[in-house]
Parts: sequence; C-alpha cells; structure tokens
Amino acid sequence: MKRHLPVAPAPASPARPRPSFPAKLAPTSVQPAAVKTQGASAFKSTPLAGPDRAGVKPSPASVQRPPVIIGDGPDLQAVRTAMVRKLQAQGLVHPAVLAALNTVERHRFVDSALASQAYEDTSLPIGLGQTISKPNVVARMLELMCHGRTEKLGRVLEIGTGCGYQAALLSHLSHEVYSMERLRGLHERARENLRWFRLSNLHLLLGDGMLGYAQGAPYASIIAAAGGNEIPEAWIDQLAVGGRLVAPAMAESGRQHLVVIDKTTTGVARTVLEAVLFVPLKSGVA
Ligand code: SAH
Repeated sequence: MKRHLPVAPAPASPARPRPSFPAKLAPTSVQPAAVKTQGASAFKSTPLAGPDRAGVKPSPASVQRPPVIIGDGPDLQAVRTAMVRKLQAQGLVHPAVLAALNTVERHRFVDSALASQAYEDTSLPIGLGQTISKPNVVARMLELMCHGRTEKLGRVLEIGTGCGYQAALLSHLSHEVYSMERLRGLHERARENLRWFRLSNLHLLLGDGMLGYAQGAPYASIIAAAGGNEIPEAWIDQLAVGGRLVAPAMAESGRQHLVVIDKTTTGVARTVLEAVLFVPLKSGVA
C-alpha cells in the first residue's frame, strides 16, 4: 500500500440540486462561524467554513476549549497510515474509505489528553457520556454504506455527529453531508473540531435525528452512530430508492446488531449483521 492514499477533493457542486437550506457561505475565514437559525424550524445549521458575523459572540464551547495543540508533521501521518494498514489486515478493503481514514486527522476530534490514543483501535470518550467508535467499526459501517461502489455517494444523512470525526470521513465519500446531533454541547464541539478542516459540503444540524431531516431527502445513504429498539420509519421514508441505511438496532436476540436496509422499487430488504455496542438513540434535543 502506498504511504499516502489519494483522496479526491470535495467537488465544487453536488451531483443533485441542494435544498435551499442551509445557506452556504464563502470559505474565507476560520473565525467562529455564526449559527443560522431556520425560521420556525427546530433545527440550527452551522456553515462550517464561513465568515464570522458582526455581533455574534463565540460560543461558550469555543471560549472554554482551546484547540488541540499537537505536532502535525509526517510522524502523525505515519501513525495514521499504520492504523489503515491494521484495518486492511483486518479485512477492510474499500479504497475510498481507507483513503479517507488515512487523511482525516482523528487526533483533532478527541481531548488533547487522549490524542496519543487517537490512532489505536479503540473507542474514546468525547464528553457528555458519548463515545467515538473505534476505527474498525467506523470503517466497517462506511464500507457497508458504500457497498462496493467506487464513485462518491450523493447526499448522505448522519445521525449522531458526536465529535464530528465520522462526519469528516463522510464528507470525503459523498457530495453532500447532513449530520444531526441532539446534544447542543457536542454539536458545538463538533463545529469547533471541524472548522479547521473547512469541509464546505458538510452541514451540522442540531435536532432530533429520530425524525431524520426531510428537507435534505431523499438520501443516497443514512448512517446512524446510535442505536434504538427500532429503525425509525422517518429514516426509511427519507432514503432514496436504491439507497442504503446502516444503523445499530436491537435484533431478535435482544442484543444490538448492525442492520443494513436497502430500499428498492419493490420494498425494503433488511439484513442483520454482527452484534455491536453503540450508545443509545434518544429522542429530543438536550
Ligand atoms: N459519529 C460520531 C459518534 C458519536 S456517538 C463521532 O464520530 O464522534 C453517537 C451520538 O449520537 C452521540 O453524540 C449522541 O448524542 C447522538 N444521538 C443519540 N440520539 C440521537 C438523536 N435522536 N439525534 C441525533 N443524535 C443522537
């Protein structure tokens, strides 16, 4: 395997027309971005690579949490590449998924005290009782999402932004990403973490992901990082025909399993895969 796997840059325009919301602002600054509130909607959208707005104060998260200061040289690239090699040895094969994992700097998404563990195959706490999944699980879900396709996916919905790591990976694998988080503190932390990456095709939404995000539907894929008893109907409704949903959910065994749902012209096909352990899917915004 080559030391530096290629990752195609995000395209200037998506494959399909984007919904009018959220507004995209020109990527001219890395100052704290304004939070745009959408009329009567319960959602808040954050343009990740936008200029600050006059009169908008940095969020408390940005004030209290200094950026992770850690070396950014070839050593960390080598560590990341070693992580990808291990994933390949474990049977992960999708070139674009591996390239994204080789590119996105996982250490920027965890507390500086945990940064040295960022490239180990382990889950890590990200605050508010939530965790970032271990790279093996993230890669597995992304491979399932891509299901052998080599071209980028169209629009993708992620439920559970958490620290924003998987959202950053998704932005390399698809034309447009909507990522929802129900916990305001994590939504804001993800915004801080992601600002450095300037991913203009990634939109963070504060809202209850159990309802999905109808304004962006239909989605080529929906991927959830939190598991409930059932897959919410809204997700299946918002999935495009030909689209694929990947989520943890309770199986007949009474344990949480990875579930894949493929939507076709004739209905939906549900495949239950290996047992997993994700944080619970909860309703409402907190
Ligand atoms: N993909 C994330 C993983 C975060 S853990 C990452 O890379 O860090 C799962 C996240 O799902 C948690 O942050 C949790 O708050 C969130 N979550 C749980 N129920 C949710 C819901 N109904 N809507 C949106 N987010 C939800």
